[in-house]
Amino acid sequence: MREIIVCGHYGCGGVRAALDGTKIGLIDNWLRHVQDIKSRHWAQLEPLTDSQRADRLCELNVIEQAMHVCDTTIVHDAWTRQQPLVVHAWIYALTDGRLHDLAFSPSSVAETAAAHRRALAHRPSRQ
Ligand SMILES: [Zn+2]
Repeated sequence: MREIIVCGHYGCGGVRAALDGTKIGLIDNWLRHVQDIKSRHWAQLEPLTDSQRADRLCELNVIEQAMHVCDTTIVHDAWTRQQPLVVHAWIYALTDGRLHDLAFSPSSVAETAAAHRRALAHRPSRQ
């Protein structure tokens, strides 16, 4: 089994800037996508405290980027060829170095939508 791991980190300054709408510079072009994720998932972010919201946006960003990996022709073609390949979404905290599985691990095109739904509903033990 081959595995692709998309790994993010809590306390991300880029995600913080996207959450606050802070202008930093050239990196704003990449943060635009994080702001889109914030808008798309605002219903689950809104009730959280500020620090929980920053943590959750870090997690949601990893999940969405892992989805993008699944949508590449490279992964699609591998799955079409029946190659055993799993895409994971993980996150870690610099403060304790512990990895958290974000419950996103599809191994086929057919599994990606359900894996995405599951990951969006899942809250890692950190919160
Ligand atoms: Zn970062």
